[in-house]
Amino acid sequence: MEVTNDNTCGWIKDLIPRTNIETLKSNDDCDWLVIGAGYTGLSAARKLAQLHPNQKIILVDAQLAGEGASSRNSGYLVDTTLNDGFTSNKELESYKKKTDIYDLGINIVKKFINEHQVDCDWNECGKYFASSKVIDQEVLANFSNTLSKLGFENNLFFKSDLSKKLGTSFYNVALHTKGGILLHPGKLVRAMIDVLPNNVILYENTSLLSWNKNKDNISCKFKNGKITTNKIIFATNGFLKSLGIKRNYNFPITLTASMTRPLNDNEYELIGKPKEWGVLPVRPMGATIRMTKDRRILIRNTAEVHNPFKMIKSELDKRSINQKIGIKKRFPQLPDNIVQSSWSGIVSRTRNSSQIFDKIDKNIFVAGCYNGSGIGVGTLFGEQIAIKASNENSDEIKTIEARSKPTWLPPQPFLNLGVKTRLLYERLRAKTEI
Ligand SMILES: Cc1cc2nc3c(=O)[nH]c(=O)nc-3n(C[C@H](O)[C@H](O)[C@H](O)COP(=O)(O)OP(=O)(O)OC[C@H]3O[C@@H](n4cnc5c(N)ncnc54)[C@H](O)[C@@H]3O)c2cc1C
Repeated sequence: MEVTNDNTCGWIKDLIPRTNIETLKSNDDCDWLVIGAGYTGLSAARKLAQLHPNQKIILVDAQLAGEGASSRNSGYLVDTTLNDGFTSNKELESYKKKTDIYDLGINIVKKFINEHQVDCDWNECGKYFASSKVIDQEVLANFSNTLSKLGFENNLFFKSDLSKKLGTSFYNVALHTKGGILLHPGKLVRAMIDVLPNNVILYENTSLLSWNKNKDNISCKFKNGKITTNKIIFATNGFLKSLGIKRNYNFPITLTASMTRPLNDNEYELIGKPKEWGVLPVRPMGATIRMTKDRRILIRNTAEVHNPFKMIKSELDKRSINQKIGIKKRFPQLPDNIVQSSWSGIVSRTRNSSQIFDKIDKNIFVAGCYNGSGIGVGTLFGEQIAIKASNENSDEIKTIEARSKPTWLPPQPFLNLGVKTRLLYERLRAKTEI
């Protein structure tokens, strides 16, 4: 299985390239093996190292650590995700369980950045759920009602206010929630790599090819060697299914994004000098779009079943053209040629939007499937799966496990057919919002 990405991600290009890269070259063994070094795997390894300072922990990644989806996302650390209103108390209770997890996720990332003095462009400016369709006001009013019942501060805004705040008159209605945070995802995950404790060995460009369990040992095969371990945590998110982990409960989705160069003073003035902001769509397949701290515009408006994982340049170029159109539609005053980078990334979804947090066999654990909200939840699940795997408990684990488990998915080819049909339907419904 190929786990490589394009090397065109704008967030990664902001960072100084790392030099201390180690690859597995011969057989090794350890007490703990963590597969996948994104937010989840890095947080699991960091926590294991704290809990077991005298044990040997190996963390492997098929590519460079942190350079999967964890660097490639839109940088929204979410407090809420849109749910268009609840009619029953049971549904409200279920939504609360979801936001309880987001809340823990925000707190854990906050704690991490405070403890390690991380500069990741952290901005507690909240976020907007916005639409150009006046009719979507009804959805937002219902959602506002739900949020108010749960104590989330939120405010509805209309066209003239929005054009001042966002610098575009594209949107007619939006609901602002105060608790969301915008950040630089690449800087955050780089900090997690930089602070890995000494008892964690990181092997990069080291792809797990196969694994098996033999009595109390787990043996993992890589291109240049084998690692034998007592306990293993799978943190490969979008690649869980291809490793055969919880294969009937999750499926990968490919997202693509584009980012402009920083707007110059003149361009910035043309759009009214808005402060940093982030918009999420009201209709699921609409565009996520944000203005960064350094005046770049980021857009993400695709979600697809895409095989193979690696997106070739010509395919990426097609999506990039659509993203340029999405930016132009919102900012007709800006020049055409300002997109500087486009990239793809793999995430994982479940049928009912629940996450995976599980012991799948003795000494074998897995955490993942954040349905597009993995910055906080991935960091939280990484730390907590390490605690669970160490046979300890926590209030956070209770909150995580209070949510219903992912539901079963049909086998191929029915799964892909179903997902593609749903995505197509959502895309048509969101046509104007792309
Ligand atoms: C375009 C885009 C926009 C997004 N926007 C947001 C957002 O705004 N907010 C938000 O919260 N989330 C967002 N997400 C989702 C978020 O990025 C993910 O949920 C999060 O990165 C998951 O972290 P992770 O560590 O579990 O997985 P990943 O970051 O995917 O890490 C998994 C790692 O496993 C490695 N791996 C896979 N297979 C193997 C193998 N066989 N052997 C060894 N290593 C392997 C991969 O190389 C990868 O580095 C977005 C994602 C994308 C792509």
